[in-house]
Amino acid sequence: MIIAIDGTLASGKGTLARRVAAIYGLAHLDTGRLYRATGVAALRTGADFEDAQALAQIASRLDLSSFDDLALRSAEAGQAASKVAAVPEVRAALLQFQRDFACRPGGAVLDGRDIGTVICPEADVKLWIDASVEERARRRHAELLVRGETLSFDEMVGEVRIRDSRDAGRQDAPMVQAADAHLIDTTELSIDAAVERACEIINQTVPQMISAASRK
Ligand code: C5P
Repeated sequence: MIIAIDGTLASGKGTLARRVAAIYGLAHLDTGRLYRATGVAALRTGADFEDAQALAQIASRLDLSSFDDLALRSAEAGQAASKVAAVPEVRAALLQFQRDFACRPGGAVLDGRDIGTVICPEADVKLWIDASVEERARRRHAELLVRGETLSFDEMVGEVRIRDSRDAGRQDAPMVQAADAHLIDTTELSIDAAVERACEIINQTVPQMISAASRK
């Protein structure tokens, strides 16, 4: 059982994926962490962001346990992630790890940008999570302020737009809703309501999942 959850920055897909994984007793991989960790490692080692081979080597040698969550969640890490994510060699270096994770016995939930289109086109259920740019900027801005980052709301809106256009505009595995993905717009949904909607879709698409959820 593979559940692919893709969507835009700060759409709520990460929280949704974690909650869905817990409800159905599935393993969860936040694939954004792979790109964030590659971007942060590239920044830390002073790697040349134009050097695709150097970036791919960093990606292929990642040790996720050496990155704390705070370093990965910064705005700087997010921008670095979306730059390295546009490099096909980096994506190629991270591909097999994600596919192996998805194919583990018992199944998995993966969230990212290209799970339903490239990593697991055969996923049993595909969700596409989105919200308005302003609402996503509001969420991400609040999150960064709590962490002590000093970005204005307008700068955050700009940041979201830049990330969106870089992710959607790249040649390799661009961020796009898979044709068979179900849209959940979270602009006016609480996280509980979004989870409820996701579970409805999953239970309708794969009725055997209902018993997996009720066992929890
Ligand atoms: O989801 P998150 O904001 O952590 O992702 C950071 C960046 O990593 C995204 O902006 C995107 O460029 C990249 N990414 C990707 N493919 C994925 C997951 C993340 O290109 N499957």
